[in-house]
Amino acid sequence: MQTHVLGFPRMGASRELKFALERHWRGELSAQGLVDIGRELTVRHWEIQREAGLSLVAVGDFSFYDHVLDTAAMLGLLPGRFADEPRPLFPETYFAMARGDAEKNLPPLDMTKWFDTNYHYLAPEITPGMTPRLARQAVIEDARLAVSLGHRPKAVLLGPLTFLSLCRAEDGADRFELLPGIMAVYREILQQLAPLCPVIQIDEPILCTEMATAAKAYFKPASVMLRAAAEGAKLLLATYFGGLGENLDLALESGFDILHLDATRAGHELSGVADRLLGDMSLSLGLVSGRNIWKTDLARAVATARDMARKLGEDRLLIGTGCSLLHCPVDLERERALAPDVRRTMSFAVQKCREVAVIAEAAEGWDHAETLAKNAADLAAGRDNPLACDPAVRRRLEGVTPAMLSRQSPFAERKKAQQARLNLPLLPTTTIGSFPQTAAIRAARLALRRGEMDQAGYRAAMQEAIADAVARQEALSLDVLVHGEPERNDMVEYFGQMLGGFCFTENGWVQSYGSRCVKPPVIFGDVSRPAPMTVDWIGHAQSLTQKPVKGMLTGPVTILNWSFVREDIPRAEVCRQIALAVRDEVADLERAGTPIIQIDEAAFREGLPLGRADQEAYLTWAVECFRLTASGVSDATQIHTHMCYSEFGTIIRWIAAMDADVISIECSRSKMELLSAFGEFEYPNDIGPGIYDIHSPRVPGVEEMAGLLRKAMAVIPAERLWVNPDCGLKTRDWPETMASLANVVAAAKMLRAEI
Ligand code: GLN
Ligand code: ZN
Repeated sequence: MQTHVLGFPRMGASRELKFALERHWRGELSAQGLVDIGRELTVRHWEIQREAGLSLVAVGDFSFYDHVLDTAAMLGLLPGRFADEPRPLFPETYFAMARGDAEKNLPPLDMTKWFDTNYHYLAPEITPGMTPRLARQAVIEDARLAVSLGHRPKAVLLGPLTFLSLCRAEDGADRFELLPGIMAVYREILQQLAPLCPVIQIDEPILCTEMATAAKAYFKPASVMLRAAAEGAKLLLATYFGGLGENLDLALESGFDILHLDATRAGHELSGVADRLLGDMSLSLGLVSGRNIWKTDLARAVATARDMARKLGEDRLLIGTGCSLLHCPVDLERERALAPDVRRTMSFAVQKCREVAVIAEAAEGWDHAETLAKNAADLAAGRDNPLACDPAVRRRLEGVTPAMLSRQSPFAERKKAQQARLNLPLLPTTTIGSFPQTAAIRAARLALRRGEMDQAGYRAAMQEAIADAVARQEALSLDVLVHGEPERNDMVEYFGQMLGGFCFTENGWVQSYGSRCVKPPVIFGDVSRPAPMTVDWIGHAQSLTQKPVKGMLTGPVTILNWSFVREDIPRAEVCRQIALAVRDEVADLERAGTPIIQIDEAAFREGLPLGRADQEAYLTWAVECFRLTASGVSDATQIHTHMCYSEFGTIIRWIAAMDADVISIECSRSKMELLSAFGEFEYPNDIGPGIYDIHSPRVPGVEEMAGLLRKAMAVIPAERLWVNPDCGLKTRDWPETMASLANVVAAAKMLRAEI
């Protein structure tokens, strides 16, 4: 059985790529220096795969920024504003497309989420009249290098249909008109790769989604062309992040030599596929998850591999990871501080490579009894960890009643009670929560971590930042104030550090986009809240002003979606545990007199599964968890929620079902278009559509914001509109923040006068 991983993390175990990129962008590292570091990492990652015993090494999965951008560069599809620039494609134009060119005022490509992961890709732009050409050959060069180093390379290419589906078609372009031109470039590449690579992997995760009719129609002819071009190599069709569902026939009839299934997500499709695999098509079984940090249950994986080998024959079976390991941290060996009982249940990218090899070897009859026994013991230890099962948490969960999921009265009545208490003007103004994390704030946090500042000193520094934020908001005459979140490094990590059932890695970084990495918290045990987490900070802010201060919490769905989550109990159950913990915080805030509580659900949509069938189930429990968190308060306590940029169209009824009194959403970049979903649905509660883009330092003018507000008022009655920025302001500086917020307040006053 051949063995492989679909891709390896690019950053390096010490985030070498991140630091090299940032040095390059600051002008401290030459292009050649950057390329050298990239090559070093690539070569090291091949070595890791070979040492693990994998029969193929992934080539072309490395990227200096993003693999979708790489594909656009390979195909020579540069938007006009970059194509006209007389500079080399790599690295100059490449990074300009990724990050924009401030000097020439060229905006970057739009960044958006890669399927249901927290990785962001750059959406290539397609305009009429573009002509694809082979413009960058990095994958071919890498394949040659790998061969010269004695590896058996498996080239990895993003497939044409997924690529085209992810592009933004602009100025009336028809993306599929580009297909013939693109296919000609793919043909050229495959012809060069085939003599170098025994296997070539074509990634088409779009097959795991509901594909557009045209994409479906073009899939077969495109596959036939790819197959013909790759003479001499085996073509592997890689699908991942879900099952194939109704696209299964398409995949089976594609003419590819090997079909890869993400068995960690599409286990239910396995036996059906094995029965229907046509001709001599082989099956690549993705048995090791690329989406978590946990050890694979080796005994189970080996049993599945054996079962499939019996059906298909060993020579028609490959063993691999479910998807690329891009979404995993690199090496568990570097974790020194984790509790041993938790650590022994974990496996990062390096370890997962070895798991793949062991599964195949054991299925072929090698004696891995010792390894399998140790694996079973490790997994059992994880389950038996007393912290994994907290009887008090389990009892509370069983005691959740339907009444706990609903507010006392319908929205209309709550609104009256809240208005009587808050006495807010029409079009009330507020912000989303965070204010600039100044150098002083960051320095205090660093000093605390280094032991150079004690808790009392840190507390005083944070209280000072809160007082400053409150004074500024009063000066701006905002209506609902916030404390500014100076004490939070990150909206999920902050809460995770105070909740039971969480732990943190030292080096568990995962690429989010470009050079940006995140270190998600780990939920390994039942979640509980030993003590209040925010009450003191919010209370301090409220003590400084007569205006209402909005308490600020992160919601259960967002905490879940931005963490690595245990898999021994359902995600919905973990989420309910978090919901109960945050519900306690809501109750404590209310008891302390907080009149308004915002429960952020920035990542609510991120957990949406790719398959329609699974979406309804997710939305049902996600909404329920939000309601469980929010519903314990009296009518007169106002619950807000906030969501960042998302397409609300298909999920609007679920957003409404959350029944928050006020929702703020990111809206300015879409020029209020996102609001139309709320209008059409006749969304019943209050809404604050963001009227200024917080992603850039630009200060929008009063008229501009008033214009957006007028647009909003055409869709939502003024009585239900709030006025606020798109999102939190922690990445901004104070001067631009003050100027922008002054204009926000002025725009609201202008509109009030017009009504
Ligand atoms: N309250 C958070 C903030 O203002 C919300 C952040 C977010 O939506 N991502 O920073
Ligand atoms: Zn946001």
